[in-house]
Amino acid sequence: MIKRNTFNEVMVPNYAPSPIIPVRGAGSRVWDQSGKEYIDFAGGIAVNALGHCHPELVKVLQEQSQKLWHLSNVWTNEPAIRLARQLCDATFAEQVFFANSGAEANEAALKLARRYAKEHFGREKTEIIAFNNSFHGRTLLTVSVGGQPKYTEGFEPLPEDITHLPYNDLAAFEYHISDHTCAVIVEPIQGEGGIIPAEAVFLEGLRALCDKHNALLIFDEIQTGMGRTGNLFAYQGYNVTPDILTSAKALGCGFPIGAMLTTKKIAASFSFGSHGSTFGGNPLACAVASKALELINDPTLLSGVNQRQRMFINSLNILNEKIGLFRDIRSEGLLIGCELKEKWHGKASELKQLAEKQGVMVLTAGPNILRLTPSLVIPPKDINQGLKQLTEAMLALKMGLPGT
Ligand SMILES: *Cc1c(COP(=O)(O)O)cnc(C)c1O
Repeated sequence: MIKRNTFNEVMVPNYAPSPIIPVRGAGSRVWDQSGKEYIDFAGGIAVNALGHCHPELVKVLQEQSQKLWHLSNVWTNEPAIRLARQLCDATFAEQVFFANSGAEANEAALKLARRYAKEHFGREKTEIIAFNNSFHGRTLLTVSVGGQPKYTEGFEPLPEDITHLPYNDLAAFEYHISDHTCAVIVEPIQGEGGIIPAEAVFLEGLRALCDKHNALLIFDEIQTGMGRTGNLFAYQGYNVTPDILTSAKALGCGFPIGAMLTTKKIAASFSFGSHGSTFGGNPLACAVASKALELINDPTLLSGVNQRQRMFINSLNILNEKIGLFRDIRSEGLLIGCELKEKWHGKASELKQLAEKQGVMVLTAGPNILRLTPSLVIPPKDINQGLKQLTEAMLALKMGLPGT
């Protein structure tokens, strides 16, 4: 049997996974090597939007696996064209670029924005504006654009002409943006940053000021897209349309794929040969994502997200009235953040460990926030059972603290 300890020997130490090794999943349940069962409120960090091993996704993956796995972009393939068509039909977009991850989708978006600005407005228009605490991926460009200095530490020299401004502060943005700005990248809801939604006036202001200064507005919907907020993409719940939108995470529901969506006019700045990917748009990933999009872009499924959100939030509020660990419980659809009271600051990962002992998988967003990103189709029974187990973990955390 493969042992968890071997991980520490053979893996680069940039992760610190939990002591268990999950071996199987079905729907919102997961089993580890010992056969212990878990309710999955983590959803692979907002990836497993249809749970584990959804029968329809398994079916398309199996079917496609017997037809064609890979060609490279020297030849196109039917699943890629089908998926691109579906994404354009479902959004503002007219054209799509496929990548293999979120960071790569953002990398493409930022490279495209730089080229578009140079082509249309001259060589000086290069500044990228992003926001404090944002997260856009781990390539050198996307980590530099991300607003968390701890993730760029030691990787200098960094790409240039990137500015970070406070999130939800339209006045600061208006003061700073200029004709030198080529692109603004923003998460409609900061995920890794702590489940912080953008105010509508902030996004509307970004749109108006980007238009005024001929800067492209990029929405990073890698975490907020594919039904997570109860809309197919979060922008559809705001009165604001971006110029470029990036998707990944739940796009393949667990099969790696990323996408950059934009208009024809902007896309034209990526002419033949200017960007590419060996695996991007491969038939396996696109076949799975095409089925995932078909299943998620459905009014019944999307309204189910809001029903489940209410179940979670009502129960969490009731639990918190009794136990009192959290100072704030916030959510957009099934993107849920529970912020610990000051007394328990720094204890989010302890709570996560306690939850796992009780048989429920959860996430954190920073040291003080418990984050839940369950499957969008998690059965109500699993919600109730998982919350019961989470209650035990919350009580354990509370009791473990001397004097409380
Ligand atoms: C997860 C995430 C990314 C990075 O995606 P990867 O697939 O890990 O490269 C980028 N932006 C946001 C908002 C994310 O949540």
